[in-house]
Amino acid sequence: MDEIPQPLWLSFEDFLVGTPMREIRLWCSRKAIRANRGRLLSGHPTGRITTDDVVAVLTAARGRCRYCGSLAVQAAPTHPVSRKPMPWGHIGRRIGSLDHVVARIDGGRNSVGNLCWCCHWCNTWPSERIPGAADHGAVQPISS
Ligand SMILES: [Zn+2]
Repeated sequence: MDEIPQPLWLSFEDFLVGTPMREIRLWCSRKAIRANRGRLLSGHPTGRITTDDVVAVLTAARGRCRYCGSLAVQAAPTHPVSRKPMPWGHIGRRIGSLDHVVARIDGGRNSVGNLCWCCHWCNTWPSERIPGAADHGAVQPISS
Protein backbone atom coordinates (compact mmCIF):
# COMPACT_ATOMS: atom_id res chain seq x y z
CA MET A 1 0.00 0.00 0.00
CA ASP A 2 1.13 3.52 -0.69
CA GLU A 3 2.29 5.54 2.24
CA ILE A 4 0.37 8.70 2.89
CA PRO A 5 2.61 11.69 2.11
CA GLN A 6 3.02 14.51 4.58
CA PRO A 7 0.44 17.26 4.09
CA LEU A 8 1.63 20.31 2.19
CA TRP A 9 0.02 22.61 4.78
CA LEU A 10 -0.78 22.21 8.48
CA SER A 11 -2.85 25.37 8.87
CA PHE A 12 -4.74 27.86 6.74
CA GLU A 13 -2.13 30.46 7.67
CA ASP A 14 0.64 28.19 6.31
CA PHE A 15 -1.32 27.81 3.09
CA LEU A 16 -1.80 31.57 2.70
CA VAL A 17 1.85 32.32 3.40
CA GLY A 18 3.07 29.60 1.03
CA THR A 19 0.71 30.12 -1.87
CA PRO A 20 0.76 33.16 -4.17
CA MET A 21 -2.65 34.87 -4.29
CA ARG A 22 -2.73 34.54 -8.09
CA GLU A 23 -2.46 30.79 -7.66
CA ILE A 24 -5.29 30.72 -5.11
CA ARG A 25 -7.45 32.81 -7.44
CA LEU A 26 -6.67 30.55 -10.41
CA TRP A 27 -7.68 27.50 -8.34
CA CYS A 28 -10.88 29.23 -7.23
CA SER A 29 -11.68 30.39 -10.77
CA ARG A 30 -11.59 26.78 -11.97
CA LYS A 31 -14.05 25.86 -9.23
CA ALA A 32 -16.33 28.72 -10.25
CA ILE A 33 -16.26 27.59 -13.88
CA ARG A 34 -17.15 24.06 -12.81
CA ALA A 35 -19.98 25.28 -10.56
CA ASN A 36 -21.43 27.35 -13.43
CA ARG A 37 -21.40 24.50 -15.90
CA GLY A 38 -24.58 22.94 -17.21
CA ARG A 39 -25.18 19.43 -15.98
CA LEU A 40 -26.90 16.50 -17.53
CA LEU A 41 -29.55 16.13 -14.82
CA SER A 42 -29.89 19.65 -13.40
CA GLY A 43 -29.36 21.67 -16.61
CA HIS A 44 -27.87 25.17 -16.76
CA PRO A 45 -27.86 27.16 -13.52
CA THR A 46 -29.59 30.55 -13.40
CA GLY A 47 -27.14 32.15 -10.96
CA ARG A 48 -23.42 32.50 -11.62
CA ILE A 49 -20.54 32.05 -9.21
CA THR A 50 -17.51 34.33 -9.51
CA THR A 51 -13.89 33.74 -8.55
CA ASP A 52 -14.37 36.26 -5.73
CA ASP A 53 -17.32 34.22 -4.43
CA VAL A 54 -15.18 31.08 -4.24
CA VAL A 55 -12.29 32.94 -2.58
CA ALA A 56 -14.78 34.28 0.00
CA VAL A 57 -16.16 30.80 0.73
CA LEU A 58 -12.63 29.37 1.08
CA THR A 59 -11.54 32.22 3.35
CA ALA A 60 -14.65 32.13 5.55
CA ALA A 61 -14.12 28.40 6.06
CA ARG A 62 -10.41 28.94 6.79
CA GLY A 63 -9.88 26.12 4.31
CA ARG A 64 -11.63 23.56 6.50
CA CYS A 65 -14.18 21.03 5.37
CA ARG A 66 -17.68 21.90 6.54
CA TYR A 67 -18.44 18.25 7.17
CA CYS A 68 -15.35 16.58 8.63
CA GLY A 69 -13.27 19.62 9.65
CA SER A 70 -10.12 18.56 7.80
CA LEU A 71 -7.92 21.30 6.35
CA ALA A 72 -8.66 20.90 2.66
CA VAL A 73 -6.43 23.27 0.70
CA GLN A 74 -4.51 20.96 -1.60
CA ALA A 75 -5.38 20.46 -5.24
CA ALA A 76 -6.20 17.01 -6.53
CA PRO A 77 -2.96 15.34 -7.65
CA THR A 78 -2.09 15.22 -11.33
CA HIS A 79 0.70 13.43 -13.12
CA PRO A 80 3.72 15.78 -13.33
CA VAL A 81 4.20 15.21 -17.06
CA SER A 82 0.87 14.19 -18.56
CA ARG A 83 -1.20 16.34 -16.12
CA LYS A 84 -3.73 13.52 -16.00
CA PRO A 85 -5.61 12.99 -12.74
CA MET A 86 -3.89 10.65 -10.29
CA PRO A 87 -5.40 8.50 -7.52
CA TRP A 88 -6.42 10.74 -4.64
CA GLY A 89 -8.46 8.61 -2.21
CA HIS A 90 -5.57 8.28 0.27
CA ILE A 91 -5.49 12.08 0.66
CA GLY A 92 -9.12 12.82 -0.16
CA ARG A 93 -9.76 14.76 3.05
CA ARG A 94 -7.03 17.33 2.29
CA ILE A 95 -8.17 18.15 -1.23
CA GLY A 96 -10.24 21.33 -1.37
CA SER A 97 -13.65 21.23 -3.00
CA LEU A 98 -16.59 23.54 -3.54
CA ASP A 99 -19.98 22.10 -2.64
CA HIS A 100 -23.57 23.18 -3.17
CA VAL A 101 -25.14 22.77 0.29
CA VAL A 102 -28.45 21.91 -1.33
CA ALA A 103 -27.46 20.00 -4.45
CA ARG A 104 -28.42 21.58 -7.76
CA ILE A 105 -30.32 18.48 -8.71
CA ASP A 106 -32.44 18.96 -5.56
CA GLY A 107 -33.25 22.55 -6.56
CA GLY A 108 -30.30 24.19 -4.78
CA ARG A 109 -29.35 27.57 -6.21
CA ASN A 110 -26.02 28.28 -7.87
CA SER A 111 -25.40 31.22 -5.55
CA VAL A 112 -22.82 32.04 -2.91
CA GLY A 113 -25.39 31.51 -0.13
CA ASN A 114 -25.71 27.88 -1.18
CA LEU A 115 -21.98 27.18 -1.33
CA CYS A 116 -19.62 25.70 1.19
CA TRP A 117 -16.03 24.59 1.30
CA CYS A 118 -15.44 20.91 1.91
CA CYS A 119 -12.97 18.16 1.20
CA HIS A 120 -13.11 16.10 -1.96
CA TRP A 121 -13.82 12.96 0.07
CA CYS A 122 -16.93 14.37 1.79
CA ASN A 123 -18.09 15.96 -1.47
CA THR A 124 -17.85 12.64 -3.26
CA TRP A 125 -19.30 10.41 -0.53
CA PRO A 126 -21.90 12.18 1.66
CA SER A 127 -22.10 9.07 3.89
CA GLU A 128 -18.46 9.75 4.84
CA ARG A 129 -19.21 13.16 6.36
CA ILE A 130 -17.85 12.34 9.82
CA PRO A 131 -16.85 15.28 12.06
CA GLY A 132 -13.25 14.91 13.17
CA ALA A 133 -12.52 12.03 10.78
CA ALA A 134 -8.86 11.04 10.77
CA ASP A 135 -8.73 8.80 7.70
CA HIS A 136 -7.91 9.57 4.06
CA GLY A 137 -5.10 11.95 4.94
CA ALA A 138 -7.23 14.24 7.12
CA VAL A 139 -5.44 17.27 8.58
CA GLN A 140 -7.38 18.02 11.76
CA PRO A 141 -6.75 21.01 14.01
CA ILE A 142 -4.94 20.25 17.23
CA SER A 143 -7.48 20.72 19.99
CA SER A 144 -6.36 22.91 22.84
ZN1 LIG B 1 -14.52 16.42 4.68
